Amino acid sequence: MANDDQFKKVISHAKEYGYVFQSSEIYDGLSAVYDYAQNGAELKKNIRDYWWKAMVQMNDNIVGIDSAIFMHPTIWKASGHVDAFNDPLIDNKDSKKRYRADVLIEDYCAKIEAKIDKEVKKAEKRFGDAFNKAEFISTNPRVVGYQEKINEILSRMGKSLEAEDLLDVKALIEELEIADPLTGSRNWTDVKQFNLMFGTKLGASAEHAMDLYLRPETAQGIFVNFLNVQKTGRMKIPFGIAQTGKAFRNEIVARQFIFRMREFEQMEMQFFIKPGTQKEWFEYWKETRMKWHNSLGLGEDNYRFHDHEKLAHYADAATDIEFKFPFGFKELEGIHSRTDFDLKQHEAFSGKKLQYFDHEDNASYTPYVLETSIGLDRMFLAVFSNALVEEELDNNTTRTVLKLPAVLAPVKAAILPLVKKDGLPDIAKQIVEDLKWDFNVDYDEKDAVGRRYRRQDANGTPFCITVDHDTLEDNTVTIRHRDTMEQKRVKITDLKNIIKAEVDVKHWLQKMK
Ligand code: ATP
Repeated sequence: MANDDQFKKVISHAKEYGYVFQSSEIYDGLSAVYDYAQNGAELKKNIRDYWWKAMVQMNDNIVGIDSAIFMHPTIWKASGHVDAFNDPLIDNKDSKKRYRADVLIEDYCAKIEAKIDKEVKKAEKRFGDAFNKAEFISTNPRVVGYQEKINEILSRMGKSLEAEDLLDVKALIEELEIADPLTGSRNWTDVKQFNLMFGTKLGASAEHAMDLYLRPETAQGIFVNFLNVQKTGRMKIPFGIAQTGKAFRNEIVARQFIFRMREFEQMEMQFFIKPGTQKEWFEYWKETRMKWHNSLGLGEDNYRFHDHEKLAHYADAATDIEFKFPFGFKELEGIHSRTDFDLKQHEAFSGKKLQYFDHEDNASYTPYVLETSIGLDRMFLAVFSNALVEEELDNNTTRTVLKLPAVLAPVKAAILPLVKKDGLPDIAKQIVEDLKWDFNVDYDEKDAVGRRYRRQDANGTPFCITVDHDTLEDNTVTIRHRDTMEQKRVKITDLKNIIKAEVDVKHWLQKMK
């Protein structure tokens, strides 16, 4: 329940501080569609930039593109989405609520996992410093039993889904006595497949209109441009093509705020490699992407890899980077070894060759592909939910602080005149004028300075700069740090460098080395 409360706080904080609004709110909203507000748009842009810099700017052999959302409909035939981009759905006959059958089963396993966590915590307490977690997990009979049960359930579900044996998926739900989480009813329909793509039409007259899909992933825009980019960019294998952009999925169950949306944004990179080298590159990108996450300092324990039991039709290896969201560990990013499936399919459906001529080998081949695919909105939720904390202070009060990594914070510094007179606002505004060339900064003169500090803490602003009467004498100001609340007297002329040292992308991305 505590986690539920934390999640509710995250959602209301996101609204109250201008990060995320429900779409079409004045019309009672649109389910699983969200708008990013004044601060949210900045945070989202900063996350996107942080990814782009790490993937495109820092890698000589990766370039970025921006392909259209509308694409030729045959692309989705070739990619397998028309025939196989389905989720297994199940309805509860009493509550009339619809669920993803696989998610019901995964949630059941998450509950067993919570029991494991409980056992570990109890043992940790009992054994103190002598506690060896790895040994405990692998030897404690109760924990081993729980883990075996999870493995057994997930493996059976994986096999049934792979074999399209939907009757067995339902049988599993019944055997596990899984109930509707909202009503407790176990009166289920059969499991059916449901295609997640949104259809639309291109063309002015109904009879000549062409049926199109809104893209359900950005990856295909990269595959169909593979040869264009390779030739015009004179790219040599191995090389990557990256892009960020909107994707659309008619998700069956869209709860959990911006974790599962019907319109969302992806940041994907397809890395084209020589066939046979996919294992090494899979390991390389697993490690590299995890380093990127860790560079942001959200806590290494909050991430884990989850290798897929059930591989998608195009993959020969796949793993998820999972993050500990307020509702538990869930997929944040996927890393997939996609073989030559996509390029071969597009060759077959378009009738055009999509091969690479390797000058060293003097031979042509269809490259293999390694993909890294992360949801920008999920990354937003990871960063935002991790950052929101309630802190007990020494004077028995609490403060709400949004400890966003400074490089991602929407506003880097707030400039506050101590009082609204004696020329202090003019100096503060001049500081804003000087700093805004380099950083997004805010001017804030309303309320007592203590309240302004709290407001900026809750907003995630890493620095507050206060102009007071001493400033008139010696051109110094107080700079207060959001996380430590430490205050220092510094020269106005030093502000830019002090802020830069903490918010600069280089300072953060270098941690990947
Ligand atoms: P899930 O199993 O959670 O539905 P997926 O395995 O279908 O996700 P991919 O197709 O691998 O997801 O997409 C890559 C990334 O895009 C995911 O790791 C996730 O971060 C993001 N993503 C996918 N679907 C959504 C969605 N509906 N809303 C927000 N982000 C999403």
